[in-house]
Amino acid sequence: MEIRTNIEQTLDNAERLNPELNSFLSIQREHALQRADAVGRLDSTGPLKGFPIAIKDNICTKGMPTTCGSRILGNYRAQYDATAIERLNEAGAIVIGKTNMDEFAMGSSNENSAFGPAKNPWDTSRVPGGSSGGSAVAVASGVVRAALGSETGGSVRQPASLCGIVGLKPTYGRISRYGLVAFASSLDSIGIFGQTTEDVAHVLGTIAGRDPRDSTSADVAVPDYAASLGADIAGKTIGVPRSLFAEGLNEEVRASVEASIDNFRNLGATIVDVEVPHAKYGIAVYYIIATAEASSNLARYDGVRYGFRAEDAPELRQMYSKTREEGFGEEVKRRIMLGTYVLSSGYYDAYYSKAQKVRAMVKRDYINAFTKCDTILTPTSPDIAFKLGERSDDPLAMYLSDIYTVSANLAGIPAISVPCGISTEGLPIGLQLMGNFWQEQLLLNLAHTYQSTHPLPTKPELHAE
Ligand code: GLN
Repeated sequence: MEIRTNIEQTLDNAERLNPELNSFLSIQREHALQRADAVGRLDSTGPLKGFPIAIKDNICTKGMPTTCGSRILGNYRAQYDATAIERLNEAGAIVIGKTNMDEFAMGSSNENSAFGPAKNPWDTSRVPGGSSGGSAVAVASGVVRAALGSETGGSVRQPASLCGIVGLKPTYGRISRYGLVAFASSLDSIGIFGQTTEDVAHVLGTIAGRDPRDSTSADVAVPDYAASLGADIAGKTIGVPRSLFAEGLNEEVRASVEASIDNFRNLGATIVDVEVPHAKYGIAVYYIIATAEASSNLARYDGVRYGFRAEDAPELRQMYSKTREEGFGEEVKRRIMLGTYVLSSGYYDAYYSKAQKVRAMVKRDYINAFTKCDTILTPTSPDIAFKLGERSDDPLAMYLSDIYTVSANLAGIPAISVPCGISTEGLPIGLQLMGNFWQEQLLLNLAHTYQSTHPLPTKPELHAE
């Protein structure tokens, strides 16, 4: 189909579904149509030429709003493109809009967005997961085939699982963070959603690689992920850390993940038991390190440099505090306070420094485990999509949504979520595969083979035409 027609149709679908799904915070019609004409005139070819893509609203896109789901950046427009966006543009992809998210990527349900939650297209009375919920919904509802999200502790994999699509968090340093608004810099990474692993592979191959503007981006060669997709599962060893399949795991999720282990065995994989003994401390360690880094990163929103400034605050300190009081939501304030506490001189050793030590042990556990297996399989989320409002008053219950995902961020290893079943209520279930550093290709191949041999039905209603 002609690029312009396709983009027009994509925009129409986004606009038609948004009142119900609230997955986009802004739809960039004018920009996207201009780009469609410009890209259409190019002689170049490539898999992403004219490819519509949705972008989480914490990734800078020049001239467009980049709100981070926060009131404090409600009127902010990015001054430059993130490296990932620059690379997508060079490949001919077309940004069609910015997606809803938990404020500053803090959350697991999208209910912490200052602009109302995105809704799960499988059942709009339920959450899509978070924090990259809007991007997950844009893909799951069929508006776009792929979208960018961000990961600090599971924010791509968890909503991918709850919305029945593929979600990849790459190795720390695989994709430049330049232009990704910082939450917890030692954990943050751009991640990719797709309806299929092919689309994820094309996007990853385009945006991965060293970037001189991000000193933590790694100088590791970027393979052509899409070209090598589909290698055989036979002969691969899958480690299953069964001690983690414990309390709090939904029985249907457990049954579905167990069935997927049998399926992998039937596809020729060898299944072995592995232990990651310190992964059970993941949530505790994550909520110390992530909040500590967030409290420092979010100090920059002071009403002077970006976005919103409170009125009626004639004195400087009053202006800072009033801006932050009015600009930040409850969860963000809670994290800033927790982070400030764990970094305070009396508690630094007891919390922050201890957490860093346990983080090193978690990483060592994974390095050891990968001497015995090629990949580690777990559920992605302990639960299926829950009802809107069901957990919003219980931050601890919400934090437990990330029990299977946070340790990959702590260790810095890549991980992918792939759909593996449908619950009796008709909601998707996802499995997670984690890999050793830089093993994105292996994860994509395993996910690709699994998805092509065990496809899930797509949700018909609400789906874009
Ligand atoms: N849900 C986790 C949190 O609230 C992870 C968020 C993320 O990965 N950005 O911190």
